[in-house]
Amino acid sequence: MHGRGYVQQGELRAATYLRRRFKQLGLQPLAPDYTQPFSLDINTFPGRLQMQASPSSSSGVSRLFKPGIDFIAEPNSGGGYVVGSAVVFDTLTFSNVAARRRWLARKLDGQPVVIHARHLARLEAPTFPDDSLRNSLNSAAARVTLVERKLTASLSAEQSPQIRLQLLADRWQDTTPNLIIRVDAILKLHYPTQNIVGYIPGQIQPDSFLVVTAHYDHLGQMGSSTYFPGANDNASGTAMLLELAAYYTQPKNRLAYSVVFLAFGAEEAGLVGSRYFVEHPLVPLSRIRFLLNLDLLGTGDEGATVVNGRELPVQFQLLQRLNEAQHALKGLAARGKAANSDHYPFSEYGVPAFFLYTRGGITAYHDVHDRAATLPLTAFANIFTLLRSFLDALQAQPTVK
Ligand SMILES: [Zn+2]
Repeated sequence: MHGRGYVQQGELRAATYLRRRFKQLGLQPLAPDYTQPFSLDINTFPGRLQMQASPSSSSGVSRLFKPGIDFIAEPNSGGGYVVGSAVVFDTLTFSNVAARRRWLARKLDGQPVVIHARHLARLEAPTFPDDSLRNSLNSAAARVTLVERKLTASLSAEQSPQIRLQLLADRWQDTTPNLIIRVDAILKLHYPTQNIVGYIPGQIQPDSFLVVTAHYDHLGQMGSSTYFPGANDNASGTAMLLELAAYYTQPKNRLAYSVVFLAFGAEEAGLVGSRYFVEHPLVPLSRIRFLLNLDLLGTGDEGATVVNGRELPVQFQLLQRLNEAQHALKGLAARGKAANSDHYPFSEYGVPAFFLYTRGGITAYHDVHDRAATLPLTAFANIFTLLRSFLDALQAQPTVK
């Protein structure tokens, strides 16, 4: 599904799949055709994404960097075509007046500048006093930031006039090579996307709701041949949502409360789908007895973490007790508030909500390595049983709020 993003209508393919599954399972639509449409601005990389280094002398070899593996585009990168010898940021400018003057006297217009991430962070810190250094970097046609360890991609609603790439630091050889950079970037305004929403009416108190949420979108494509599968983030949570929906649609498992299944779009773009839902709720938010947000459920080798566990100790103790009785997870850690997934807009509104994510197993995150083939799903089946009994217990205790 092209990484369930905004190139090749990946997000729409995923939404179409979910709609079909909701229908097959017999969920009732909470909006026409299970769809709550909304739109967002989003920067995309649908075409060429190339970076090549060739040595300035004839002795070295030229090198083609691989998108996703060696380098990525920064979320707000602009597009264009740049050929020129790389200008490496001179760290002496931080301490030496003459070096600073020399640096500022250079014209960078047509050239790519290369800077280490920690030096860029220093320049971009709000406390850094020198705008002129920042401005000179921004005047370069392209900026290549060298990052340590791993590449981590993200999304942006804006586009910079400058090409901005990140290259793994160990791929860079500082023999002042010529860089050839080609990026197609398209800022899509008012791009239409959607939340997918269905529910099972409650047997006794249909106007009280338990809500299960998971975002189905991911980062999409980066260039025409690279995409982010997002197996852990968040095909895993979406799969768990479907498993719970399959369970609760069985007549013998129906609950007293209505159970809503909410698959959010555009989480990776900044919780856009969940914010939209809270502003345009399809069930009264005050009638939501509890919301369970599932994001990153593909591991569990080191247990799981519950965001808002510290805010809602009664519900957390209930989950703990069930976990201990079932030996479901190695450990459950409670955290305070965090704006790190779709539960957050609901929490801010006062809806009691947990966000559960698994720990351990793999380190792939927002990169091309977050793939189904290497996702361990260590605790997946146990988490299903745990969540099921948690939801059952919540509606058996209507006083818990
Ligand atoms: Zn994510």
